[in-house]
Amino acid sequence: MFVFINSRGKYTYIILNSPKKGPKILKKPVYFVPWHPYPNKTASMRKDSFPKFKGLIKKCSNIVIVTHWSPDGDAIGSSLGLYHYLKALKKTVTVVVPNEYPEFLQWMPGNKHILNFEKDAAKVNKSIAKADVIFTLDFNTLKRIEKLGAEIEKSKAPKILIDHHQQPDNYPTYYFHDVNACSTCELIFDFIVGLGGKKLIDKKIASCLYVGLMTDTGSFRYSSVNSKTHMIISELLKTGIIPSDIHSAIYDTYSEERMKLLGYALSEKMTIIKGLPVAYIALTEAELKKFDYKKGDTEGLVNYPFAIKGIKACALFNEGEGGVKLSFRSKGKIDVNKFARAHFNGGGHINAAGGKAHDSLENTVKKFISLAEELVK
Ligand code: 5GP
Ligand code: MN
Repeated sequence: MFVFINSRGKYTYIILNSPKKGPKILKKPVYFVPWHPYPNKTASMRKDSFPKFKGLIKKCSNIVIVTHWSPDGDAIGSSLGLYHYLKALKKTVTVVVPNEYPEFLQWMPGNKHILNFEKDAAKVNKSIAKADVIFTLDFNTLKRIEKLGAEIEKSKAPKILIDHHQQPDNYPTYYFHDVNACSTCELIFDFIVGLGGKKLIDKKIASCLYVGLMTDTGSFRYSSVNSKTHMIISELLKTGIIPSDIHSAIYDTYSEERMKLLGYALSEKMTIIKGLPVAYIALTEAELKKFDYKKGDTEGLVNYPFAIKGIKACALFNEGEGGVKLSFRSKGKIDVNKFARAHFNGGGHINAAGGKAHDSLENTVKKFISLAEELVK
């Protein structure tokens, strides 16, 4: 649970949660516990990092917020939550996504202002060129934004990473990072409150943040959920948002075809590897096409086999876009982040990660089966 501040070339690492010994300077990167909005022993973080962020934001007028490839609920929710907060501070703010995202995420307040780099590269480049500061949300490496990464790298503006994925790369100027946060939306809440903006959290911000907290925790079911998650939700609900409406807007949106794809995937395609607590579903491009596949239609599918007693790791393979997109999920100590990094050009969290394979679906599945024993051992 940490944040570290890396001020371009001058690396200062201070342990903030050892009040008795005082600040300690270390040579190696160390992450620090971000400020907790509720009293706990790491509250000293507030003094050390927020004035820096506050000063930086005060100075700038043009802000760009970027999130990851194939944005999910946490990516769009955190980006728009931060967008509304910065707009309330009278900043010029542009939210940029590298590519398209599912329709069930397109209702959030501010959605119509989001620029898609694939459709609007010229406008995006103009915003990046003008940016005084760039926030990169819900990802840990510029590889996760594909071609947009080169544009971000070119910019001289300071970059603030706000994220909860494992092992962030070193492109950012500042980190607000915590692998124990259930979502980037949780960190955006901490960030806004830490900057003294709690009063500015209105219905618009709350509904965006609610989406990320809900979707990244599987509707408050995963092991990342704790009392803080629910305390934040409690604060968000005070603004008057209606959780059941948000739940419906995200989840009760299946097309008939998507529902049938789910049924087909579970009854015909789900395989449990013999002798192992591992299940996978592999879908060919033709199968996806048959069910009129739209972006987001297989979201959540990877988790279904966990409902089978004893299953500890699941994988989903989607053929398409010149390769295979993979999703991994696990329980307990089984580390799919490490697994995806080592074998499938990916990464993510310990219990939820993704990757890609530039190979046939058949070979990718074979490779996964051959590695499955090692994954769960
Ligand atoms: P999903 O399976 O839902 O696509 O992704 C699970 C988690 O892994 C998400 O937090 C996502 O950001 C991360 N992730 C998905 N695909 C990739 C990838 O190709 N590279 C990396 N580094 N992370 C990924
Ligand atoms: Mn996330």
